[in-house]
Amino acid sequence: MIARRGFLAASVVTLLAPNLARADNTGRLSFRGSTEQGGLVIGRAASGAKVTVDDTSLLVSPQGDFAFGFSYDRTKPAHVVAQFADGTSEVRDVSPIVRQYETQSITGLPQGLVTPSAADLARIERENALIVEARKRDTDGVGFAEPFDWPCAGIITSVYGSRRIENGTLMAPHLGVDVAAPAGTPIHAAADAVVTIADDYLLDGGFTLLDHGHGVSTCYLHQSKRMVKVGDKVARGDVIGLMGQTGRATGPNTHWGLCWFQVKLDPSRSTLTPEPPKS
Ligand SMILES: [Zn+2]
Repeated sequence: MIARRGFLAASVVTLLAPNLARADNTGRLSFRGSTEQGGLVIGRAASGAKVTVDDTSLLVSPQGDFAFGFSYDRTKPAHVVAQFADGTSEVRDVSPIVRQYETQSITGLPQGLVTPSAADLARIERENALIVEARKRDTDGVGFAEPFDWPCAGIITSVYGSRRIENGTLMAPHLGVDVAAPAGTPIHAAADAVVTIADDYLLDGGFTLLDHGHGVSTCYLHQSKRMVKVGDKVARGDVIGLMGQTGRATGPNTHWGLCWFQVKLDPSRSTLTPEPPKS
């Protein structure tokens, strides 16, 4: 109950957007979560509805829940069509709220990880392909439909969308949230899920990918110890590993990522509180 109230409170901000202020609460089609750039939007349609977003069919749960996300730089509205069991339909264009992102300069990274060798590059591409494949899953899990818990205590050291200058080189935007705490801090599943990857990768270090259903996944990087394996069912709050400094990391931290299929989202916009608990 607390979780649900908090999630709705978080979405009140998005209701200030004119498109949602008018569109919400008709009963047959509603939205919660975050409609900001990088936001995971959770929709609910009346039972038995068929839903498309941008002309792609979405899985709809027995409760009527479905999910889609806005990339960090998306400005085009999402075109949502719900066709109801009685033959009627409803159309909504949900506009992403534009955000400003910060620039962050990081020095002291091993230069080999900023400009990898050909052999490392081949390994990085192989590992990325495995992650892309796992993120294609469109399963009927319903862990995505409730707000997430922060996976670990600590302080946020890098936010979503920040443009990074690493050892003087402008890199792709940082599309996750870094939480730093002492090495060995437990990492918990943010919501109910199935483990789809548990492995050690070159850049990501100890890496776990959790499938929360409907294309929504979260990942946890740089772990010193992984404590679940592929195929395991985990419940919200289960310890899945320990915080470490493996892969491309300058100190113990957990890079926490959230995706809707291949679209990288901001997990901090899907939590009950804007900050993790202090360690
Ligand atoms: Zn990170």
